[in-house]
Amino acid sequence: KKWVYLFTEGNASMRDLLGGKGAGVAEMTRTGVPVPPGFTITTEACNEYYARGKQFPEGLWEQTLAALKVIEEQVGKKFGDPDNPLLVSVRSGARESMPGMMDTVLNLGLNKETLAGLARLTNNPRFAADAYRRFVQLFGKIVLGVDGEKFEHVMSEAKGRDRQDTDLTAEELMQIAETFKAIIKEDAGVDFPEDPYEQLRMAITAVFNSWMGRRAVDYRRVYKIPDTLGTGVNVQTMVFGNMGNDSATGVAFTRNPATGADELYGEYLVNAQGEDVVAGIRTPKPISKLREEMPEVYEQFSQIAKMLERHYKDVQDVEFTIERGKLWMLQTRNGKRTGMAAVKIAVDMVNEGLIDKRTALRRVQPEMLNQFLFPIVNPAAAEHATRLARGLAAGPGAAQGRIVLDPDEAAARSEQGERVILVRTETAPEDFHGMVASQAILTARGGLTSHAAVVARQLGKCCVCGCGDLEIDYKAGAVHVHGTDVILKDGDWITVDGHSGWVYAGQVETQEAEVIQVIRGQMKPEDSKLYGYFTTFLSWADEVRRLGVRANADTPTDARVARLFGAEGIGLCRTEHMFFEGDRIDAVREMIVADTPEDRRRALAKIEPLQQGDFEGIFEVMDGLPVTIRTLDPPLHEFLPHGDREIEELAHKMGIDVATLKAKIEGLREANPMLGFRGCRLGIEYPEITEMQARAIFHAAANCQARGIKVHPEIMIPLVGDVSELRMQGDIVRRVADEVMAETGQKIDYLLGTMIEVPRAALTADKIATIAEFFSFGTNDLTQMTFGMSRDDAGRFLPLYVERKLLKDDPFEVLDQEGVGQLVRMGVERGRSTRPDLKTGICGEHGGEPESVKFCHRVGLNYVSCSPYRVVIARLAAAQAVL
Ligand code: ADP
Ligand code: MG
Ligand code: MG
Repeated sequence: KKWVYLFTEGNASMRDLLGGKGAGVAEMTRTGVPVPPGFTITTEACNEYYARGKQFPEGLWEQTLAALKVIEEQVGKKFGDPDNPLLVSVRSGARESMPGMMDTVLNLGLNKETLAGLARLTNNPRFAADAYRRFVQLFGKIVLGVDGEKFEHVMSEAKGRDRQDTDLTAEELMQIAETFKAIIKEDAGVDFPEDPYEQLRMAITAVFNSWMGRRAVDYRRVYKIPDTLGTGVNVQTMVFGNMGNDSATGVAFTRNPATGADELYGEYLVNAQGEDVVAGIRTPKPISKLREEMPEVYEQFSQIAKMLERHYKDVQDVEFTIERGKLWMLQTRNGKRTGMAAVKIAVDMVNEGLIDKRTALRRVQPEMLNQFLFPIVNPAAAEHATRLARGLAAGPGAAQGRIVLDPDEAAARSEQGERVILVRTETAPEDFHGMVASQAILTARGGLTSHAAVVARQLGKCCVCGCGDLEIDYKAGAVHVHGTDVILKDGDWITVDGHSGWVYAGQVETQEAEVIQVIRGQMKPEDSKLYGYFTTFLSWADEVRRLGVRANADTPTDARVARLFGAEGIGLCRTEHMFFEGDRIDAVREMIVADTPEDRRRALAKIEPLQQGDFEGIFEVMDGLPVTIRTLDPPLHEFLPHGDREIEELAHKMGIDVATLKAKIEGLREANPMLGFRGCRLGIEYPEITEMQARAIFHAAANCQARGIKVHPEIMIPLVGDVSELRMQGDIVRRVADEVMAETGQKIDYLLGTMIEVPRAALTADKIATIAEFFSFGTNDLTQMTFGMSRDDAGRFLPLYVERKLLKDDPFEVLDQEGVGQLVRMGVERGRSTRPDLKTGICGEHGGEPESVKFCHRVGLNYVSCSPYRVVIARLAAAQAVL
């Protein structure tokens, strides 16, 4: 079996076999880009290594040696030859680049003899010593597992206070290398391997082993990457960026990954090797400086960058090294980018004719559009701000606040009007109140599924998690930034950028997102380039998608926002929110407390004109677009106070005695309110409520029509489990509609439908559709009832389910396609079996979650409805469902 491929034998389509890095260097080699020769050991070899109980597969070593021979001939050097030594790097590379995989070992092949040869050959003993020092350090740390700090400590001792690593002499570097070897001997208990072939074998083994290392395994669990992919191993001729001032190493993006601007963006270090640039050993220079320092190399580099971009038709993230004025490319891959950059680049590339619109739409993850809407760190201010540390961008937005380490204190201080940022090693459910009270959450440990990240996303709150450079000392009330002498104190200002993961010292100016400014009318659309890109991109999504997108909106204000984001109607208008507004609650309470239908009607009569006004407002804004209005849903006790004092006050206000009111409240008490007296059950016991609401809706509609505004109300009865419930409520609605139409002489075009949110409704959807003209799947309740988990209580145990992988996702966030989804599918099918033109939609929060939206497309819903701010996400997800 072929386990080893020369770079000249591979290409970009062999990612699975060669890993991302291997396929990338092979493709570059193929297209004539200067790449140091080398070969890749396949991911299959890695899998076979494990299958054989951690033994090299049959023939692997022989093939490796043979490939090495080819390389030796190509470059005219010999591995282990003191007179003309070939040195190589050993680089891991799975299909997806993955934290936790083995870091690269450079300069492999050095020992006492080859070192002397290298010094002689290059006539540069200092360079040779530097290469040796690096090799011993990397090999010791990466292959032999010695704590890297120990080496770094020796280095910084040797440099002293004001020298850089480039200032160390050959003798000093040799001394350091010897010290490193002593450390290795003591720590790992082995002599440093002198035989280059032994070094190579050990390094390859270490790469294989790192595939099953804990960090890599954890990462794959989180991102659901199968263990069976395996990693490739790349063995590549060394080129040296550390041969003097005509040598350098660097990284660059072919476009700016933060803004999407069409410019080379990157950094390099002169006289440096490997990861020096990223490791912050010295401050690197911006790539634009290379144009001055090495104009010819720069010219060649920017041409290669452009060429690679055209070749891959996407932004490339490249690594390069310059050896004595000669440019070598070491890596290329599609560059990660922010949401803003992703959209701009996609639109630009379509305009440049590089990709088509469909490809553009596929390039942006729907959630990324969020980044257009949340507050941002002012980019100019960020340039000058002090960056403290960087973690994972876990929750959107940007926030300034004072550091608080304790959740109780965060809650207390925020109560007093202080802006605080909760900084914790990690968070736990009992910290929730403190998290809610904070402007942002910052943690030192935990990934994107840690408690902090999950809660932050739920709250739509700015969050940076897993910021490993922060050491939090709760006792001292201080945060130490690792590797620096910065110590932050409780109460110090910091700024957290949830888009980039950066944490800044002090108050860095933030601003409202441009798109929001435009939508609010605070900025002209033509003044915002971002807005232009945003709307262009979304218009392409609208061209391809078939699924409608509506918004859940309860007020004219929400409705207006929804329309500006492109909603094509309202899929859920909850009337109970109107009941809470202002002093309407008094009338509502009167209604609840009323003893007779007459009393109740009297109370309702006070609410009716107010509701009617609300509906008119919404109809006006929606101007002919459909508006789905749900009749009253929540448990009645939510409208009544529960504390003794509040009850007394209310009784007094209402002119009834305290005991009576208490008895009423007592009578409404339920053990499981979410499964109790709510939804259509209210309207069944109190038909006059439904009647009043229907009248308010139809009068509003008639009034609007009289003023020339088109209206399409869709009246939706909630929590129906049996067709009889819908029939009873529907009769009321239809009767009132007829009355209002007769009374006003207006013909109103309306639909009567129901929510499908009780499993029984999905099961009997064919019957329900005999009456319902539309279904809206209320997947929040449907999920609760299908799982038998109350959303209000699930916070106690559900996170554990997700953490322990009992459930892939929180089903309240991502629609459970396997279970709940089956009910949706069945509901649609059965409903349409009796009413082929049945309109179907979803109005649970899943309506704004991309995977769920795609599911809705697949089962043939007519539309999804989600919160106004998620409408754009749904529009893109709906388009991607078609692609
Ligand atoms: P990572 O996956 O962490 O980016 P790489 O394998 O790309 O690891 O190696 C990191 C860096 O090491 C590269 O960017 C490059 O600077 C340096 N490097 C790797 N191989 C070579 C080589 N053959 N010659 C010179 N430098 C190399
Ligand atoms: Mg690395
Ligand atoms: Mg790399």
